[in-house]
Amino acid sequence: MQILVTGAAGFIGFHLTKELLTLCHYVIGIDNLNRAYNPNLKIDRLKNLSHHKLFKFYQGDILNRRFLKKIFTDHNFSTVYHLAARTGIRTSIKYPILYQRVNSEGTKILYQLAHMFGISHFIFASSSSVYGDSPLPFTETMNLPSPSSPYAASKQNAEKILVDLQKQYRIPTTIFRFFSVYGHHGRPDMAPYLFTQAILTQKPLTLFGSGEEARDYTYIDDIVQGLSSGLSRRFASEIINLGNHKPVTTANLISTIESISNLKAKIIRKPRRQEEVKITFADITKAKKLLDWQPQTPLFEGMKKFILWYKKSRFIQQSH
Ligand code: NAD
Repeated sequence: MQILVTGAAGFIGFHLTKELLTLCHYVIGIDNLNRAYNPNLKIDRLKNLSHHKLFKFYQGDILNRRFLKKIFTDHNFSTVYHLAARTGIRTSIKYPILYQRVNSEGTKILYQLAHMFGISHFIFASSSSVYGDSPLPFTETMNLPSPSSPYAASKQNAEKILVDLQKQYRIPTTIFRFFSVYGHHGRPDMAPYLFTQAILTQKPLTLFGSGEEARDYTYIDDIVQGLSSGLSRRFASEIINLGNHKPVTTANLISTIESISNLKAKIIRKPRRQEEVKITFADITKAKKLLDWQPQTPLFEGMKKFILWYKKSRFIQQSH
């Protein structure tokens, strides 16, 4: 049986694929390798996977039904991990229609194909963004507020499509809501990467807000553990938070990087953006109960590993 990972050249898709290969699964990865951020990072991730005998990669778009249908026809998938998406809250303000198409319609296309080809397990990457500024901590049973960004709207829609269609298709479906994932091979548009880059090169970093805004930063290895443990537990239809359960303020993130690197940040302050929520904080009772999952990596440890990787891979940034 084979596993399909969409967005396999992306940050989380890459790490998940690596883990599945280590567990001796046959993995088919697809990704359109778009230029939403430095594509050298995606190519570098794929290079890391390409030597593996159990891995096959196809470049293509999840909105291209014909491309997807051929892949479903040529392979015998048991599970689909659907991680491909337009990511980044700020960019979504600029391209709301694109986000809606890829993240919501793309998810629907994949789910319809999963149904058509008798896939027995569908796992979807959603986001803490769906909670907006809900009361803390965020629990899966909360009513969701109106979305704070087109990205949040696209993930809320995708979830709704899956929950509604699941009642008809009956495919066991797990929706994971990730909270600010960071770590090696990470995304260059996210705060841990942007701040590290600025501090290590001694350039100014832009801090939007007072510094008291907080994110429930979750280390990539913990997310991958949650995702891969979801493989052996097939729920009819569940939504599960994967977060660190320890929100960290932006000021604290900056001082953590300063302390690891022994360098001082040069900070430019700007007001908080409307689309950015104040705090994210995951209630992880459900993940503990259903998956026996518990995050293992404190921010300091995770950032130490990330900074080590960043220093070694500066060539990626320089070659862009
Ligand atoms: P990423 O941007 O690194 O990965 C997404 C991948 O999808 C990219 O490689 C991109 O090229 C690919 N992609 C985009 N549009 C595509 C299309 N139309 N067809 C095929 N491929 C396409 O992001 P990530 O951080 O790895 O996120 C993975 C998933 O997790 C996404 O669904 C994201 O919304 C979700 N998520 C991530 C975080 C986080 O903190 N990183 C938090 C919450 C949710």
